[in-house]
Amino acid sequence: MTSYADVVVVGGGQAGLAAGYHLRHLGIECVILDAQAAPGGAWQHTWDSLHLFSPAAYSSLPGRLMPPQPGETYPDAGHVVAYLSDYEQRYELDVRRPVRVQGVHRDGQLLRVATDSGAWRARAAISATGTWWRPFLPAVPGREVFRGRQLHTVEYRSPYDFAGQQVVVVGGGNSGAQIAADLAHHTDLTWVTQREPRFLADDIDGRALFDAATARRRALDAGTGDTGGVASLGDIVAVPPVRAARDAGLLKASPMFARLTPDGVEWADGTRAEADAIIWCTGFRPALSHLAPLGLRGPRGHIPTHGTRAAEEPRLHLLGYGDWTGPASATLIGVGRPARDASREIAQLLGVVR
Ligand code: FAD
Repeated sequence: MTSYADVVVVGGGQAGLAAGYHLRHLGIECVILDAQAAPGGAWQHTWDSLHLFSPAAYSSLPGRLMPPQPGETYPDAGHVVAYLSDYEQRYELDVRRPVRVQGVHRDGQLLRVATDSGAWRARAAISATGTWWRPFLPAVPGREVFRGRQLHTVEYRSPYDFAGQQVVVVGGGNSGAQIAADLAHHTDLTWVTQREPRFLADDIDGRALFDAATARRRALDAGTGDTGGVASLGDIVAVPPVRAARDAGLLKASPMFARLTPDGVEWADGTRAEADAIIWCTGFRPALSHLAPLGLRGPRGHIPTHGTRAAEEPRLHLLGYGDWTGPASATLIGVGRPARDASREIAQLLGVVR
């Protein structure tokens, strides 16, 4: 069966909902197709102790402030799921679940969106599928010989699953630091980072990061140079559990090892550490396989864009994957503006005048 909508949004996480909000505001009919069975996008799957790195009011989508979570300055993931669930109901967004988009194709004047439960035709599409679904694992020699357990950030839930074990955590970003801090009190921990960990100052949280990303975008747009943005401040937000573990001396990082052995890891100088488990907190890549039929990928794997609009396909916008599609667009507070811009461009394309 083939259905029609003016705009199909692929993905019903925060980015897809922000797009739905703005499209609705402009009076544009849209349907949001989401592969998950329930609202909340990736937030449904994070580890148990995860808290946002910004207070609730600084983690809001357009139109509705996230309410504070009683007793918590930094809300937990469950609170975000509840907020997103309420958001899509409040704005009566037409989210279809579970619907997995398999491919977006050109079809004359329209785009054809093939899914696991029928197809859609649309005049424009927004891809908002996030990165959680494409965990990245670096090529390290010996991955196949290690006899213990290997998992990625996306599979980690709780330190109690590793109580008393020797655990190696790989990665010097926020996930690596937070998972290392989570495990530090319960396991014999080795934390491995490619370079010396760069903690942000203790008083810097997501608010300051958003300001830095916005200032960088403004400076680049105005041609006044690159302020360096978020990366110039550091890599790791010193959220309270990370700060506590660091201050207790439990977050000492070792440099990256050279290979895995059957029993653990080995550095280039022959030093070894035994491990029951290795947790790879080594990042994500954008989940874009459904766009393959359009043949839009550039040399670095990214799809070249002007703002959010695909450079080679003006009917397609990409939303929420990172600074690449708008400053801080992979954050709750940052996705609103690129979602608004994408919706306005689509309104122009469709000839919707308001
Ligand atoms: P997602 O939440 O991943 O939603 C995408 C949706 O699209 C999912 O429901 C998915 O199932 C669906 N989908 C994927 N492929 C298809 C397909 N082919 N067909 C149909 N549906 C599909 N941001 C903050 O603002 N504050 C924080 O404190 C913060 N902490 C973070 C901590 C961690 C560990 C991580 C990983 C990220 C954090 N972020 C934070 C960043 C960001 O807010 C989240 O990653 C957020 O989930 C991104 O939202 P999204 O809508 O772009 O993607």
